[in-house]
Amino acid sequence: MEDASAPLDRQATTGPTTRLECKICWTVYDPTLGDDLWQIPPGTPFADLPAHWTCPNCSAEKKNFLVLDD
Ligand SMILES: [Zn+2]
Repeated sequence: MEDASAPLDRQATTGPTTRLECKICWTVYDPTLGDDLWQIPPGTPFADLPAHWTCPNCSAEKKNFLVLDD
């Protein structure tokens, strides 16, 4: 709390290999796999997905995805 040197700390929860899970249908987006449906190449971080990307299973928007803790 006393360390204010990392103003973007909340953004750090999603990194290049962070997996996220759709809170509606539990589909997991894994950056190491990409997304065949959207022709997203392996190695694409969630943050770099196109703005119009939605869940390949239920079409939920990106805001409906929750960070998975390993
Ligand atoms: Zn979904």
